[in-house]
Order: sequence, then C-alpha cells, then structure tokens
Amino acid sequence: MENELIDFHIHSKFSDGIYAVEDIINFAKSHGFKMIGISDHYDTIKTVSIKKNKLLDYITFLNSLKNEFNLKSAVEIDFSPRTDLENLPFDQLNSLDYILFEYVQDPLWDGYPFWKLIDLLEKINVPIGLAHNNIMRNFKDVDMDEFVDVLETHKIFIEINANDIYTILSEYFFNLSEEFFKLIRNREIPISVGSDMHNKLDDMLKVKIGLTFIRNLNLERNLQLFLELFKND
Ligand SMILES: [Zn+2]
Repeated sequence: MENELIDFHIHSKFSDGIYAVEDIINFAKSHGFKMIGISDHYDTIKTVSIKKNKLLDYITFLNSLKNEFNLKSAVEIDFSPRTDLENLPFDQLNSLDYILFEYVQDPLWDGYPFWKLIDLLEKINVPIGLAHNNIMRNFKDVDMDEFVDVLETHKIFIEINANDIYTILSEYFFNLSEEFFKLIRNREIPISVGSDMHNKLDDMLKVKIGLTFIRNLNLERNLQLFLELFKND
C-alpha cells in the first residue's frame, strides 16, 4: 500500500484552498498517488465555499479532468446551521462521486445530530461519509453497537484524516477512536483516508500516517470497501 497513495479530502481554489485543481493533480501524479478526490466546501458561512449557483460549474470542471487522472469529485458539507440544508441542490449533489459531511454530532462546532443525516439520506444516492469526526467524543453517549449497525445499513463511510488540526494533545482523532475502529473491522463499513490539504501540497503525503493506521489495525478490507464504491463508474 506504500506505493498506493490515495487522498479523498482535498481543497482547491474553488473554496478555501490555494491551489488550482491542475496543480494538485500534477503533485499527485509526481508523488505516486493512484487516485484522489477533490472535496471543496459547499456553500457555508464558515469559510470560502462553492456557492449554490456555482456548483454545476465545479462539477463540470472536475469531470473534464477525469481523463487526466483517476480523479473523484466531491464536496464537503458543513453539517450545521451554517449551511442551508433545507435547500440543498440534490440533483447536482447526486452527480458527484461522494459527499463528505463535517461536524456531524460535533458539539464544539454546533454540528447537527447524526439522525438528521440519516433523514437527509432519503434524497442522496451517492456515497456519503463522516469527515474527520472525533467519534469517541462526539458519539460517547450513543450505543456503539447500534451506531455501527446504522453505519453499515446505510453504507456510510468513515474518514481517517491525518491533518494536524484533527488532534488533541498531538493524538489524532482516529487514534483516540481506536476502539471504534476495532468494532468496524469486520463489518461492511467503508473507510477512506484524507489529508484536508488547503495550502501546502506536501500535506497530502500525510495520508501515509492514515494508511499506516489502517494497516496496523487490519482495516484494509474497510478501505477496499470504500474503493469499491466507485467500481461501477
Ligand atoms: Zn475539509
């Protein structure tokens, strides 16, 4: 897997990243990435983001680059009152390869509860995942077995994000949630990896830390399940 770098959480100039998608693809090509996903912020007051009326341009542009590289199109949705969740453009969102949801059930960021995401799934027919979620903190009052059942039923993937922001006292959220990852090891729950790169291309190489975690915890099958979500493309 060392030579099979992948990164499914990357920001470009379409939102608050500083690089053009072409630059990101060139970096990926020259550093041995086999697949990447661009996941710019969708319309949120939190940060620079793709406005609703620009989403189609974004998706069309990403699709036009797919013959250059193994590229997946995505957005990251701020799952909080900062986003107009009532009026999401589902037709367009459903033409993406996947959707990341950040701050799901995260009290520090006013994240909406997990059940609200399940409600939203009635209108979404592409893979969705929880981005950089500190699961053992945000879901500490939840019955873990039930939570895992719901994730499995809805094929919701979990992202392992190796950006330094997602740490507490230098421990990555995924390390802090090791118990959770052991629970999903033999379950049909996909796992993705991401760097949340914004302004330093080298940050994408941090996915190696996430991939090492996956290997050490024997979560390769979960990662495979994630990659298989794209097989019918
Ligand atoms: Zn992000």
